[in-house]
Amino acid sequence: MNEKTFTLNIAHLYPKLLNIYGDWGNVLTIKKRCEWRNIGVNITSVEIGDTIDNRIYDIYFLGGGQDQQQIAVSKELQKHKNALQDASDEHAVFLAICGGYQLLGNFYQPHNAERLKGIGLLDAYTVAGEKRFIGNVTAKCDYTIPQTLVGFENHSGLTFLQGETEPLAYISVGNGNNGKDKTEGARCKNVFGTYLHGSFLPKNPHFADYLIKLALKKRYKDDIPLKPLNDKLEEAAHSSLINKKY
Ligand code: GLN
Repeated sequence: MNEKTFTLNIAHLYPKLLNIYGDWGNVLTIKKRCEWRNIGVNITSVEIGDTIDNRIYDIYFLGGGQDQQQIAVSKELQKHKNALQDASDEHAVFLAICGGYQLLGNFYQPHNAERLKGIGLLDAYTVAGEKRFIGNVTAKCDYTIPQTLVGFENHSGLTFLQGETEPLAYISVGNGNNGKDKTEGARCKNVFGTYLHGSFLPKNPHFADYLIKLALKKRYKDDIPLKPLNDKLEEAAHSSLINKKY
């Protein structure tokens, strides 16, 4: 049996509630890109009522969801706020998509409904907008080569970043955080939020590898090189969406 030199543990948070537009594909992408490199991956689905032992996990993932599902997850996340903030301080990697992203901020204020508390891993807030942003997105990210990120957005929430929290990327095509300040997504420490569905990572393999390297560094305290993969298909999918409007 080929021994695994490295292993990563992933907590997939509330997949029964936050998993629209196939956002589960992001977890699958990390899993496969690790396994293709003989890096072991353990995935734990965390549902409402489950405990979260932050000593175990290197990566936390939250998918997108409609306002109704966000209400339940917002309440549940409050129980784990300190544990997840400690995980973030220990440089665990978080990736949150759309509705999940909104709940990593300080709050999400839907239309005509009670404000939903976030857990403040990102210094950001979201308010419901008057229209829905739906369409392809191309954005420029400073952390990766290539610097483009592509995906599909479908949200009415308008997210505004504050304090030390920086944008994940800058919009070339689409709306991103709020359709006004040309920012898309957010980053604080190793916590990443984005409005890019699609799923996001299969079409942005360079960003998937960026997250894997961050998670390996968090666990093994070292920069562990990743063997290049044959990404012809992924790169073709990525290129086909760059600057695509419709
Ligand atoms: N309910 C949120 C909004 O509309 C998030 C939607 C989503 O996750 N796609 O902004």
